[in-house]
Amino acid sequence: MPRHVVAGSERRPAPPRAGVESLIVASFRSTPFTVHVWDLINRPGQMREVDFDIANPEKLGEGLVAVETGESIHGELRLESIHEGILVSASLETTAVGVCGRCLRDIDLPVEVEFQELFAYSSEEAYDYEVHDDHVDLEPLIRDAVVLSLPFQPVCQPDCPGLDPETGERLAEAPAPDSFESTDPRWAALAGFTASDDDSAGQQPGAERD
Ligand SMILES: [Zn+2]
Repeated sequence: MPRHVVAGSERRPAPPRAGVESLIVASFRSTPFTVHVWDLINRPGQMREVDFDIANPEKLGEGLVAVETGESIHGELRLESIHEGILVSASLETTAVGVCGRCLRDIDLPVEVEFQELFAYSSEEAYDYEVHDDHVDLEPLIRDAVVLSLPFQPVCQPDCPGLDPETGERLAEAPAPDSFESTDPRWAALAGFTASDDDSAGQQPGAERD
């Protein structure tokens, strides 16, 4: 059974530099976000595209909206082999749920994020991410991209009126007056032109009868 455990607040300690075999055993773990790249390693110019749909293994976000555990995450990856390692370009779609920051109504927010990152072969150079045991682990990148995309003040609609400051009741959208459209001066002016044009066109000389 693979352990679908994803580090949340805990960060993995830096792997030991000595002993390649112990490094691999100690640091590699299979999660829904690990992707194998064995067919691309040391083959510059090779490229592979991967689509995936996974159930989010751990809640992403701590604010008014978050991507809940179990929410579907759709991803499209492009894995490119370059000299230094594997270049990963990712496009992700999921849904965050929570409440409107003004009226506290339940809302769903579509989340779309993209990122690109190089996973290097060598740990000796100053790269943040490395290929481990023929895999790349996208979990920290996906977590950061999704969490950073979530709004601090989500709203159910751009002009949400929010709550009444006195009663705390949810303010209804102000109903439009019945006469709103007809009193718009721009449309009133156009209506006048149209009516007079129709009248003059409808008059036929010599149409009178005895
Ligand atoms: Zn609202």
